[in-house]
Amino acid sequence: MITAYLSHPDCQRHHMGPEHPESPLRLEAIRARLMLGGILQQTMQSDAREATEEQLARVHPLRHLRALDKCLPDHGLVALDGDTLMNPDSLLAARLAAGAVVRGVDLVFRHQADNVFCAVRPPGHHAEASDAMGFCFYNNVAVGAAHARARYGVRRVAILDFDVHQCNGTIDIFKDDPGVLVCTSFQYPFYPWRYLRSESRNVVNTPLAAGTDGPAFRRAVEDDWLPALHAFKPELVLVSAGFDAHRQDPLAELCLEDEDYHWVTHLAMEIAALYADHRLVSVLEGGYDPDALGRGAEAHVKALLGLPFA
Ligand SMILES: [Zn+2]
Repeated sequence: MITAYLSHPDCQRHHMGPEHPESPLRLEAIRARLMLGGILQQTMQSDAREATEEQLARVHPLRHLRALDKCLPDHGLVALDGDTLMNPDSLLAARLAAGAVVRGVDLVFRHQADNVFCAVRPPGHHAEASDAMGFCFYNNVAVGAAHARARYGVRRVAILDFDVHQCNGTIDIFKDDPGVLVCTSFQYPFYPWRYLRSESRNVVNTPLAAGTDGPAFRRAVEDDWLPALHAFKPELVLVSAGFDAHRQDPLAELCLEDEDYHWVTHLAMEIAALYADHRLVSVLEGGYDPDALGRGAEAHVKALLGLPFA
């Protein structure tokens, strides 16, 4: 397997204050862990490029994009909501994060990589079409899905999201769209408190009670996601890879272990192998314990490379 690892140093320039859990240290933690384990060296490393306004505007109305541009401060921080803040470099980082998924889609469709991990921030899956929230500005995975449809004529895109928080933004953008299947596992009831009980036919909700552990997570994903995925037969698999359902994560109360991330990645790859000529592009979402984030991402990338967990 050729696995591309897309990132960019300017993703670190976005910060939301010294106490904020969605910090530049997260990408450091992932890179350090992957280097130490000799995993990063086995990937094809490349820099992300900024998404263009045209690419962003496929999922966000232009007037919303312009309104975000106007919020960007010249110095200091400005708050969009209680926990989503901008510094002068935030939208540069956000364009790189969305652009990474666009580039990842290009790589798999041009046969330059089998699969891709985008180690970028800010995350994206809480960003709704016209609402930035939950540490997210642009919906990175949605921008990638829209690019695949517009550029490569892809008819069916599956988005698998195992972040501990439900992907309200991705659902907002693709609800009732028969060309996109969204499968999302999440702690329930919990943030984002929107779309938690959405009943769109193209959304598979897998709510999990606080305390849910790996074996129960695996059973729920197999029961809920697999039948929908086999019926849908995606031509591209996108993954919103959040690592905050880990037992060690400080923001939530699910109890996944490192190995569960290897397992769920492998499941996504099996679907991609069956229906999508292996095409799979994954993008970082949450994960707020630096140590657990590094180990979860390592398990994820190991699986992408076709390596065993241990
Ligand atoms: Zn999350």
